[in-house]
Amino acid sequence: MKRLDFEPTFKCWRETARAALSAELSPEAISWSDGEATQLFEPMALESNQTRYNVPKRFMEVAERVVCHRSQGRWDLLYKVLWRITHGERHLLEVFSDVDTAALYKMDKEVRRDVHKMRAFVRFRHVVQEEEAWYVAWFEPDHHIIRINAPFFVDRFAQMRWSILSADECAHWDQRHLTFTDGVRREHAPNRDEVEELWRTYYSTIFNPARVKTSAMLAEMPKKYWRNLPEARAIPELLEQAPKRVENMIKASDAKQEAEIGKAVVPAADLDLESLKKAAAGCEACPLYRNATQTVFGEGPLQADIVFVGEQPGDQEDRIGRPFVGPAGAVLDRAMMEAGVVRARCYVTNSVKHFKWELRGKRRLHQTPNARDIEACRPWLEAELRLLKPQYLVCLGSTAANAVFGRPTKVLQNRGKWMESLYSKQTLITVHPSSILRARDPEQQEKAYGDFVNDLRLLVR
Ligand code: SF4
Repeated sequence: MKRLDFEPTFKCWRETARAALSAELSPEAISWSDGEATQLFEPMALESNQTRYNVPKRFMEVAERVVCHRSQGRWDLLYKVLWRITHGERHLLEVFSDVDTAALYKMDKEVRRDVHKMRAFVRFRHVVQEEEAWYVAWFEPDHHIIRINAPFFVDRFAQMRWSILSADECAHWDQRHLTFTDGVRREHAPNRDEVEELWRTYYSTIFNPARVKTSAMLAEMPKKYWRNLPEARAIPELLEQAPKRVENMIKASDAKQEAEIGKAVVPAADLDLESLKKAAAGCEACPLYRNATQTVFGEGPLQADIVFVGEQPGDQEDRIGRPFVGPAGAVLDRAMMEAGVVRARCYVTNSVKHFKWELRGKRRLHQTPNARDIEACRPWLEAELRLLKPQYLVCLGSTAANAVFGRPTKVLQNRGKWMESLYSKQTLITVHPSSILRARDPEQQEKAYGDFVNDLRLLVR
């Protein structure tokens, strides 16, 4: 085995890898050395080579992040995957069960997570340097991410002069140039400044006691970052006060909703589906109609044997006025097709007929309907189900299960088994297709999707 020496940067690795590919050096024949590892093998010099290899764009994107991983094995793994892609396995990155693909995605995920942490937890301290204001932060990344993350801070803090110091490498921005220098020790970073009190006040104001989950909070904000966060000193006191504040919030919110929410009134018991739809179009029984574009009523033939009940319309459904036509609808369509369920013979609807959302930046973000929203809208769902009398009724997700069974009903405990409800002797609970889209990685998504299709297969047995 020979040793390939190279600078530990993406550019250098790419050039060396290209030369190694062109010399037909298999992964087993070489050991990659960026100077950090023990140098066991004889060094080997390679001619630089400009041969272009047709490699999927996805690989280059992932590789650029994986080179930042702290594991010594990343170089060998990257070359192994590259070798396989260029030697007959072009679609290797789509094979999530492959050991090398899985290892590569794992490293990628760890780097992306570290990048996110840095964006969330860098706190600048104000210092004066040569009579100029300068902002300095100390950060301890798990991986070598200072360089790939620096452009984000340039964008975000373009008008400030700043430095981000770390033991690996330091980034500096003087309002015009981004530069990098060697790493420094923790003592070089300032500890405190007058901005800290402002941070603490701000954090105490935005702290939402109702959202506190201590274990999740520690996972998202590991204690190792706390000493760099001015607001961290406020956390123990805020956590202590959280239960009381939540209680007060609930009381205030209950009183407000009590005053506002009514219940949908269905005009007559013997309306047909079309007339029901028209009546629901003008429903203003609860406040949800105010921020939504239109009522999104169910859709499908009256003779449908299978009725799917979801949660509420999403952003696209709200604009178009039809249920399950957005990304979750696409997953449902595909899964139905794979399970052998014909959508044209099914009726699809939602428990709540108006889109509930909150504005984040420029996006309308879905908000889960609460028990009161479900209750207010239940008369429409009941009227639909009484008309349809479905042979099979499918609840997609917990909101639908709660609406159909009229009580809190756990999805994961009850999924995939036939149950009797008020509206159908054969009622099935499964997940909402949007939960598949939210899976954390491709592997989990694949599995969640497979389980969903298996649940739907029960409808055609
Ligand atoms: S969500 Fe339901 S009850 Fe509330 S306004 Fe819309 S249709 Fe009426």
